[in-house]
Amino acid sequence: MKIIRTVGEMQGASEQDRMQGLRIGFVPTMGFLHEGHLSLVRIARSLSDRVVLSIYVNPTQFSPGEDLSRYPRDFERDEALAADAGVDAIFHPSDSEMYPEGFRTSVRVREITEHLCGSSRPGHFEGVATVCLKLFHAVKPHVAVFGQKDAQQAAVIRRMVKDLDLDLEIVTGPIVREPDGLAMSSRNAYLSPVERKQAAVLHESLKTAEGLIRKGEMSAEVIKGRIQDMIAGKSSARIDYVEVVDAESFKPVSRLDSPAVIALAVFFGKTRLIDNMLWRPVTGTSR
Ligand code: AMP
Repeated sequence: MKIIRTVGEMQGASEQDRMQGLRIGFVPTMGFLHEGHLSLVRIARSLSDRVVLSIYVNPTQFSPGEDLSRYPRDFERDEALAADAGVDAIFHPSDSEMYPEGFRTSVRVREITEHLCGSSRPGHFEGVATVCLKLFHAVKPHVAVFGQKDAQQAAVIRRMVKDLDLDLEIVTGPIVREPDGLAMSSRNAYLSPVERKQAAVLHESLKTAEGLIRKGEMSAEVIKGRIQDMIAGKSSARIDYVEVVDAESFKPVSRLDSPAVIALAVFFGKTRLIDNMLWRPVTGTSR
């Protein structure tokens, strides 16, 4: 497994692979790898000949006061996990490599970024879109794999790829969960034992919502109310948002009669966690 730290070297390696007719699969991450990330690596593996994993904690997607400086990092551990999972190359650039002196450009995807994490983390998706576009130009993938865990992020990237005619496919992988249902996240490492236990309510409330919808409840207000009540019952929880949005535009909807995402962001102590469930009324499936 190669460790590549510069854009030029990454582009050279990918160009060589492409000249040999090899298909490149790409999984962008901020590191501190867990089974959620590794599941995406396995999807990329199944769709391509070469798998590149990037590990880069992108400063431009963090607002002032967020957890950039304390974001968990352990490159040696990540390296071992990536090698085990069959990654061919890790792209691990420095901040000065990604944002050299004089950097002035950004990518803004409109509308789809207005709600949910877009409104509670101003500038977040501009940072995400810009870094993903840069990573795509460095890695030159045929396919990039994102997690449904960050559903709005995946939708923003799909929109950007379409709007800017990028020649790559975006694939999303399902949310990987801990045994009690908590979605795996590098940020779970911040949780105290009490917060960790109480955080299971996120998935429990989404399952309860799913049960209500299956019984015929179509009102977003009713669904949101039930989720909010369940979360409010946990002493360390503070709701950032609980919202029902259209699965493509990410605009809030009042009824669940077309594909929708039930999305939530909740602080447990100082740690902000997100989770969501995709609901497709026609097939009655959720994920
Ligand atoms: P991150 O390192 O948190 O920026 O995540 C990198 C990628 O892994 C993103 O596409 C996430 O959506 C995805 N991811 C994070 N957690 C999970 C999870 N529990 N299940 C599936 N994918 C995930």
